[in-house]
Amino acid sequence: MTEKKIIITLDGWSSCGKSTLAKALARELGYVFVDSGAMYRAITLYFLNNSIDLSDLKQIEKALANIELTFVFNPTRGASDIILNCQNVESSIRDMAVASRVSEVAAIPLVRQFAVQQQQRLGKNKGIVMDGRDIGTVVFPDAELKIFMTASKEIRVKRRFQELVQKDAAITIEEVRENLEQRDHMDSNRKESPLRQANDARVLDNTDLTEQQQFELALGWAKEVIAQPL
Ligand code: C5P
Repeated sequence: MTEKKIIITLDGWSSCGKSTLAKALARELGYVFVDSGAMYRAITLYFLNNSIDLSDLKQIEKALANIELTFVFNPTRGASDIILNCQNVESSIRDMAVASRVSEVAAIPLVRQFAVQQQQRLGKNKGIVMDGRDIGTVVFPDAELKIFMTASKEIRVKRRFQELVQKDAAITIEEVRENLEQRDHMDSNRKESPLRQANDARVLDNTDLTEQQQFELALGWAKEVIAQPL
């Protein structure tokens, strides 16, 4: 008998390690990992590069029609890089220029429709781990395992700063804190699909957990759900 394949969703605040955990779970289970935030970041990068006016719906619609997002596996990272119209933008979408505008772009209903449609298509055959803000509530409301991740703000700021400073030595911890607070606020207060915990989500607070501990906890949940009869 082949093992049942499920959908695992990971939602939560900015920089609480969702992608790290999603990637590890996908690798262990042989599932596909999709970083939905990378899609919103790539769309933002395109809008910035093409000076799209965010108040002009016609321009946005036209721009979205010209965007093709795909993923290609990068063996060095052990995860997929995002490709925006044939260009690998995995590194540039992490820059502050994108981070400081992405929540504004992600709040636009047309943008969300565009991204959600593609995300749902990617999950058609199950066997997927997707992280984001609305994955368990909007994209896959029937997902078999929903995880809502959280961690103290200070620890999130520290982790994100350590990651960003390796690329940009000039970045300050205040800049990182400000960006995190701004995104958390916008993501949880927007009209369209705000960040919220699904009623049936399991909460994982990793403030005092190591990567290995959170992985074991989540893997245990996944195995429990997979073992349940259909
Ligand atoms: O996950 P990450 O921090 O890379 O996401 C970047 C931004 O993309 C978030 O701050 C949020 O504004 C947006 N996002 C979203 N819905 C998702 C994933 C990300 O609105 N499912």
